[in-house]
Amino acid sequence: MSGIWRGASFSLKFAAVILVAGMATAAVPLMLAEASARAEAESSATDRVSIVASLIDGQRSSLATFIAGVGRQLAADHDVDSPSAVHATLAQDGSVIGTGDLLGVVQPGGTIIAVQGATPIAIALANSVAGAASAGAATAASPDGRAWLVAVSPVPGSTATAFVARPLDPTLINALAHNIGTSADPVGILLIRDGRTRTAASSQASLTRELTPAIATPRAAIVSLDSQQFAVASTSVGAGFTLAVATPFSGPTVGWQSVLLLLGVILVAMLFIVVVVQIDLRRPLQRLDSAVVALEGGDFDRPVDTASVDEIGRLGASFEAMRTQVRSTMRTTATRATVAMELSLAQPLDAALANVCAALRGSLEVDLAMIVVNGSEMSDAFAVADGRRHVTFDGFLEGNGPLGEGYRYRGLGAIILGATAAAPEARLDVREFCVAPLRLGKHVHGVLAVAGQAGAFTAGDTDLVASTAEQISLALERYRFLAMVQRQASVDDLTGLYNHRFLIDSLGQQAALAERLGAPLAILMLDIDHFKALNDSHGHHAGDLALSTFASTVLSNVRRADLTARYGGEEFVVLMPNTSAHEAFTVAEKIRLAVATTDVELPDRPAARLTVSVGVAAYPEDTERASELFDLADDALYEAKRSGRDRTCMARELQAPRAHAGPSMGQHAAVTQGESNAGAGHRRPPQ
Ligand code: GH3
Ligand code: MG
Ligand code: MG
Repeated sequence: MSGIWRGASFSLKFAAVILVAGMATAAVPLMLAEASARAEAESSATDRVSIVASLIDGQRSSLATFIAGVGRQLAADHDVDSPSAVHATLAQDGSVIGTGDLLGVVQPGGTIIAVQGATPIAIALANSVAGAASAGAATAASPDGRAWLVAVSPVPGSTATAFVARPLDPTLINALAHNIGTSADPVGILLIRDGRTRTAASSQASLTRELTPAIATPRAAIVSLDSQQFAVASTSVGAGFTLAVATPFSGPTVGWQSVLLLLGVILVAMLFIVVVVQIDLRRPLQRLDSAVVALEGGDFDRPVDTASVDEIGRLGASFEAMRTQVRSTMRTTATRATVAMELSLAQPLDAALANVCAALRGSLEVDLAMIVVNGSEMSDAFAVADGRRHVTFDGFLEGNGPLGEGYRYRGLGAIILGATAAAPEARLDVREFCVAPLRLGKHVHGVLAVAGQAGAFTAGDTDLVASTAEQISLALERYRFLAMVQRQASVDDLTGLYNHRFLIDSLGQQAALAERLGAPLAILMLDIDHFKALNDSHGHHAGDLALSTFASTVLSNVRRADLTARYGGEEFVVLMPNTSAHEAFTVAEKIRLAVATTDVELPDRPAARLTVSVGVAAYPEDTERASELFDLADDALYEAKRSGRDRTCMARELQAPRAHAGPSMGQHAAVTQGESNAGAGHRRPPQ
């Protein structure tokens, strides 16, 4: 049973409850009305029985008055010992009372002197009445079982007693019944003795039937007989007689219309409850249930909607708040992991930052995510954005808009700012910015900003932006540090030119590229003449200054695309992509002449002058294998040293007869092989 109840739907349960409650609501007033009607009927019966008893007492009083008069008359007129004289008087007096009444005189001991109406019945009656009278009783029962009202009076001057008796016969009872009842409100009066009804009268037949067995107690009560109910009350009237009054009792009347109306009201209430439960309770609960099942299955994107404002609506709202909180926490956690991964992957900084922006924008569901990084000695300023194309960020960090404010913000975490129409950010067409500076210690690298419509950001969002800004700052610092280390690893400290290692790497790459593309590649190898002598005469520091000046001179005479490196000591190399042998010779001469005419400023000394010898080799003019260029240039440099220094020697000249040398080489023609002071030794780059 309890299983069925638990399994029943809300609608059924509510309908059942309403049915029971409706029935109870209807039954209680009915029961109360019934009880009240019973009490009223019992009280009315009690009242009526006392009225009847009073009326009977009235009869007795009038009989007592009458018999007292008879007694006095007998004493005055007659000798009571003379029955004939007494008879005469009694006959005279008897004419003024009812014909059924008995009038007589008795001697002490019960001897009847005279009785009016000396019939045998009258004599028999008189004997029992006289017995009662002499015993002082007010009621007597005659041998035939009838009840009599008795009154006595002594006869003055004698021992005799006069008595009068009136039968409580149907005529009298009937008169009493009509006295206290009407046809609309009938009353039955019963005189009962020894468990039998002796006399009864009523205007309604059912009230005079045998009610005696039902009248068990002297208290008023409702009794049933033959599917009829009666209110009955009784009282004793002496000589073993009980006087009972009965009235019909029908209880409160409830018509079938009332029952139908009640049933109708209950049915309507049930219907109403079912509809209300269905709409207001069951459907919202079903929605809530399916949303909770979705949450259980890990679907945190499905909103919990109960579409009501009652308790279930509030429960749904709480669930919804919990869902968004959990979802936001999960997204935040996932986004933090994504950001950390992107920033730790071996990928270009731009790509890492773009991916971070994309992750942030997706997680926060905003219109725009951007990172603006200021310029430094290592790199120019740049910006990365996700969600908007063709956005320029010039002036954002310096301006008074949200990005500028966020960049200058010195507090903790991220701040939420709006964009005024005057701010440069106004052109981004977003209303609200959540901005955090990219700060590491005292250094601010730039700013991270996400932007969306007004009210787009929660406390969780600002936390995510702030923590992401910290991660980006660390990454930027790491990238800058790496760039610095890389730069230090590839640049020569003294001259600022690329160092030996970088040169070797670049040479390999450039040679391979030139061969693959068939593109020209030229190389100059330069060695300062008699540099040892400068060191010796002016000191090492002066030598360093000279090297630095020399490097600047070389740099200012080559193109940006050319790579200038310090090969070692006072030897330098210039790699020139897309440069022919002839062009390379021109550059070499330009450098040589510039060096020769540039003063090397020395502290506390007159300026010095340098000269340089240059070897030139070019692909494809001098070789079919670009990787041989270095050796060819080295050979040419050696030749330049050998032939007198402060000159340029082309590798081609070493391979061809002197007659084939270019016109520019004419000035070196006198240099002879094997000259003792040739400074440039043959060298090979490490493989
Ligand atoms: P040559 O004309 O034959 O090239 O004569 P050179 O004296 O220039 O040639 P050598 O190879 O004999 O001497 C090179 C000198 O360069 C030796 C060394 O003292 C000097 N040198 C190398 N590296 C540095 C440097 O970093 N600073 C200074 N001050 N001198 C250096
Ligand atoms: Mg030298
Ligand atoms: Mg040298």
